[in-house]
Amino acid sequence: MSELETLRMVIGGKPVDAISGKTFESQNPYTGQPWAVIPDGDTDDVDAAVAAARSAFDGEWGSTTPFARAACLRRLGDLITENAERLARLEVNDSGKLYREMLGQLNALGGWYHYYAGLATAIEGAQPPSPNPNYLVYTRREPVGVVAAITPWNSPLLLMSWKVAPALAAGCTVVIKPSEHAPGSTLGFAELIEQAGIPAGVVNVVTSLRGEVGAHLAAHPGVDKVAFTGSTATGIKVGHAAMDNLNPVTLELGGKSPQVVFPDADLQAAANGLVAGVFAATGQTCMAGSRLVVHADVHDELVRLVAERASQIKLGDPFGEDTEMGPVANGPQYEKVLGYLETARDEGATIQYGGSAEEALGGYFVKPTVLTVKPTDTVFREEVFGPVLSAVTFTDEDEAVKLANDTPYGLAGAVWTKDIHRGHRVAGRIRAGTVWINAYRAVAPSVPFGGYKMSGLGRENGHAGLEPYLETKSVWVELTGGTRDPFTLG
Ligand code: NAD
Repeated sequence: MSELETLRMVIGGKPVDAISGKTFESQNPYTGQPWAVIPDGDTDDVDAAVAAARSAFDGEWGSTTPFARAACLRRLGDLITENAERLARLEVNDSGKLYREMLGQLNALGGWYHYYAGLATAIEGAQPPSPNPNYLVYTRREPVGVVAAITPWNSPLLLMSWKVAPALAAGCTVVIKPSEHAPGSTLGFAELIEQAGIPAGVVNVVTSLRGEVGAHLAAHPGVDKVAFTGSTATGIKVGHAAMDNLNPVTLELGGKSPQVVFPDADLQAAANGLVAGVFAATGQTCMAGSRLVVHADVHDELVRLVAERASQIKLGDPFGEDTEMGPVANGPQYEKVLGYLETARDEGATIQYGGSAEEALGGYFVKPTVLTVKPTDTVFREEVFGPVLSAVTFTDEDEAVKLANDTPYGLAGAVWTKDIHRGHRVAGRIRAGTVWINAYRAVAPSVPFGGYKMSGLGRENGHAGLEPYLETKSVWVELTGGTRDPFTLG
């Protein structure tokens, strides 16, 4: 067995072990072997990180200009690109995601830092109309303070960047807590902070095996804003913890996104979109298009196309050049996906392809699965977070929209049709934060992303993604310099 890589947390600009000295091993889901030794931080490590972030906020970082912050962000973006291969490798080792997908993601990731570098220098206050000629009134946009950024295991660096880039643009400092299932790449990222010229304490990372450490960070009185991506159940707890401190909170949570296919759609393109939407990243994306709502007339043909492509998907080593789908990212998630497949069978789902583990490969492989189900089936209603597509049929547009919206989630969705009127009309009727028309899975630094309903609170990316990191202060200036009647002020 090759030697384990030792990674360290970064607190106050220094690579550090946990105060307790404890560590844990991160498992590679493809080999089933540990590959890295990670500090097992505790609440005292969180306290130290929050103190370092506070001190940096009150210190040098607090007086940097937006131009200086933008320069740091641009350097950090460039460093991510220069280190894309190493960071991609760390994330593949942790999560079993495809190396070529991760390399593509890492090569694009610098774009988030460059985009927010631009926005940093465009943060402007306003001069609202004054009710009284003796007053000048203006507003200042100020950083909200110390940010807690808590991330999940499925796309640690991307989802961390959706928080850290706007936070730094606004002038905030950050404590990041990555998932215990995939902490490696965030620690690799933290090594670049100093090289980017970002002062000590501005970005801190605490790793831990226990969720309670995340809970301690979310509830920390030294934190001013909480940004969380993860499951809806945890998000609700995080929201309560933030609210106990009256802290603003953004929550990017689960999804069960519909792909609505009308009979006039280009079925081959829709099949590709379905494959991309639910089998890419082994279906472990919050925006997975896992609910196929298809017109009854084209159900058989579309399901045949998707099942045929699913049967050709090459499962295997995430580092393999021709591999198309890696394993499920960790043991608990693998058991969860298989549990959903068992429930689907019990509830009478028709298995069009897959439906079981790919045992020949060992590890946590699950066959890409295509099911035809009833709208009431568990697998159609709950987030599986695995390579499982469930199809139901409709006969008219209202029924399609009703089925698409019949979910507590509202993260994303797609409409497949050649009818431009229907495309926009149905996109407008789907209750979700992102809708693609004849496409799936595109995201960009400039385009807001977030959930309706139980899929979240607030938006990341775009101008909207910067707002949660800014306070607004109104400044009133008395212009005459004279003394006024104290009982008629205003
Ligand atoms: P999770 O909720 O189990 O954990 C997320 C993070 O929260 C981890 O770092 C974990 O250690 C931490 N945590 C656990 N308990 C906590 C607590 N009580 N207080 C504070 N932090 C706590 O989620 P996961 O299993 O890592 O990720 C999968 C989920 O994330 C899926 O539901 C998926 O849909 C969602 N997700 C959403 C988006 C989005 O942008 N909407 C993106 C990716 C993933």
